[in-house]
Amino acid sequence: MSTRRILAMQDVIKRTPVELNHPKKQVSEYYGSNVFGIDAMREFLSEEAFNSIQNSMNQGTIVERKMADQVAACMKAWAQSKGVTHYTHWFQPLTGTTAEKHDGFFEPIGGGRAIERFSGSQLVQQEPDASSFPNGGVRSTFEARGYTAWDPTSPAFIWGNTLCIPTIFVSYTGEALDFKTPLLKSLGALDKAATEVCQFFDKNVTKVIGTLGWEQEYFLIDAALYNIRYDLQQTGRTLFGHAPAKGQQLEDHYWGSIPERVLAFMKDFEYESHLLGIPVRTRHNEVAPAQFECAPVFEEINIAVDHNQLLMDVMEKVAMRHNFRVLLHEKPYAGVNGSGKHNNWSLATNTGKNLLSPGKTPKTNLQFLTFFINTVKAVYEHADLMRACIASANNDHRLGANEAPPAIMSVFLGDSLNKILDEIEKSVGDKKLSPEEKTALKLSIGKIPDILLDNTDRNRTSPFAFTGNKFEFRAVGSSANCAGAMTVLNAIVAEQLQNFIKDVEGLMSSKKLEREDAIFQVLKRYITESKKIRFEGNGYGDEWKAEAKKRGLNNIATTPGALEFFISKKSIGLFENLGILNHREQEARYEIYLETYTKKIQIESRIMADMVDNQIIPAALNYQKVLVDNVSGLKNILSAADFKKASETQISLIREISERITIIKNASDSMTNERKKANNLDSAKKQAHAYCDKVKPFFDTIRYNVDKLENIVDDATWPLPKYREMLYLR
Ligand code: ADP
Ligand code: MG
Repeated sequence: MSTRRILAMQDVIKRTPVELNHPKKQVSEYYGSNVFGIDAMREFLSEEAFNSIQNSMNQGTIVERKMADQVAACMKAWAQSKGVTHYTHWFQPLTGTTAEKHDGFFEPIGGGRAIERFSGSQLVQQEPDASSFPNGGVRSTFEARGYTAWDPTSPAFIWGNTLCIPTIFVSYTGEALDFKTPLLKSLGALDKAATEVCQFFDKNVTKVIGTLGWEQEYFLIDAALYNIRYDLQQTGRTLFGHAPAKGQQLEDHYWGSIPERVLAFMKDFEYESHLLGIPVRTRHNEVAPAQFECAPVFEEINIAVDHNQLLMDVMEKVAMRHNFRVLLHEKPYAGVNGSGKHNNWSLATNTGKNLLSPGKTPKTNLQFLTFFINTVKAVYEHADLMRACIASANNDHRLGANEAPPAIMSVFLGDSLNKILDEIEKSVGDKKLSPEEKTALKLSIGKIPDILLDNTDRNRTSPFAFTGNKFEFRAVGSSANCAGAMTVLNAIVAEQLQNFIKDVEGLMSSKKLEREDAIFQVLKRYITESKKIRFEGNGYGDEWKAEAKKRGLNNIATTPGALEFFISKKSIGLFENLGILNHREQEARYEIYLETYTKKIQIESRIMADMVDNQIIPAALNYQKVLVDNVSGLKNILSAADFKKASETQISLIREISERITIIKNASDSMTNERKKANNLDSAKKQAHAYCDKVKPFFDTIRYNVDKLENIVDDATWPLPKYREMLYLR
């Protein structure tokens, strides 16, 4: 074993669970204590300032500058009472992670003294130099300023010694440079359209919010092993590694007993999350060895997104205390499952109703069906955009890999709802329903809640499934910012609901129909039109690929292909009409995503060549030398006949090593060459396609041969921690 690997394994063997010294209290006693939430606001703000913030949170009104000064002073007082010394505008640039620049509260006042100060203007706006964040050419360098602006709808929080203020991030000319800005706009559009539709059924509804409950999957690895796997460090995934004898085939990991060391880590990050008001509640082992999941209680989408971004950061930091590293990559290991982040999505009204939960009366069930069918129709209309919004170099490894939803977009409804939709389609005609027909239809709709109650069918292979009272977008990647997927889903449903209102009102006036009859007729038409997107079978099977092709559904395997749909006429129109992103912003995003893709593959390709040259080939040559020495030794002491027999296997190993080294080296050199060619192409689009089609294919050849060498070469010589070492945690 290479010295580094021996030392790392010695560390791993000695590990014990890290002792926690959390207060032995119920969660409710400390939950949210590091959040400037309602309780802290009540305690620290004047009534006037408190009301101003509450209005801003609930109605989106602007907090006046005078109030902002007061809020800032109180936030500072609250934070100082907890030992905080710095503050930061916390935002979500298009890198996918979060950004923060800490500034001290203190200000020198001359005479060698200083005071702590935090003003309203510092709270409300900052001007980071935005030229170092991805901007897709939106901001030319002479206008390098961008600014962050306070989002009062997501509460400030304390992480470490820093007060973090959630903000949006826009260019000086007002274009969005982050995930939060379009998300907030999409939520506004959704609220408006959904509230208007609710008015058809219930006049008390004046606000609709989107809700999100994510499920975060991740892997853990011992830090000592991580530290000597350069591929994991630099790309988040293992570029090499032979599958272990025992992977996930015994299916003994899912919901299995959680290892002690892991449990200590989970308790620790859950504790930190609860201080931050992140409602994580569920923890369990996932399917692959060393893979786990955590899930919170759902929240309003903007807050849920912030909480997920924050949680990923908290997990990574807490993991270090436990000598673990968290792998949030979608596919850290080949041959075992990858990680996703299911986005459970629904709509809730100010009257406390979940719009995707069937009600007790036929009327509320018609409301449920309205939102349900419109969502299906929206996904049908924008299936390719849904595919685009989950595309990334990482997620390409997972989608369609017989463990994760396929790259074909479809919707799973479950048996009972399919039947109801079929019934509506059959019984509603172009003419007004007779009173008897209507009663019969309403009766069957009235049965929905009972049917759903015992409807336990679950289809794990669908990218977008209805699961009783919410839709579950399963194709989102584990490292993704949920805002990307949520912005698209909110937008397409908002647009669809707008169309629904137009269609219903159109029928009411053209055919002189009562509203309810018009609703039935429009829903019936949507059911018929969007049938193609409904699929109940096995999404992992090859039959589905063939069937989807027949239906004309796209199966877009790679990110560069999928990203095209961000800038299709249809998508640009969608975002522009709803005022979420203009075409420049959308095109800039497209460029950024392409560049990110290219850079990721470029880094993988470079580190691969690096490891091949510096670690793998030298290790293989060392072992080959042992064999060669042995064979020459045998030749000296054995008769020709005995030598032939004794050396045969070794000579074939020597040959195999040479052959594989040659293949690896040639592939690696050709790959480097293709990289050079790709780098010289003149557009982000061409580069991304070249990296995808010309550079990436070499990965398979190289990896295949390296993994064969791993099997041949003496374990003592092999430089990299093996899958069997990395995947098993005590
Ligand atoms: P499963 O693994 O079977 O999908 P989990 O219990 O792990 O179920 O996750 C369910 C997720 O759905 C949780 O994150 C939960 O908060 C979320 N959820 C439940 N109801 C809603 C809702 N109305 N809106 C959004 N998310 C919801
Ligand atoms: Mg789920």
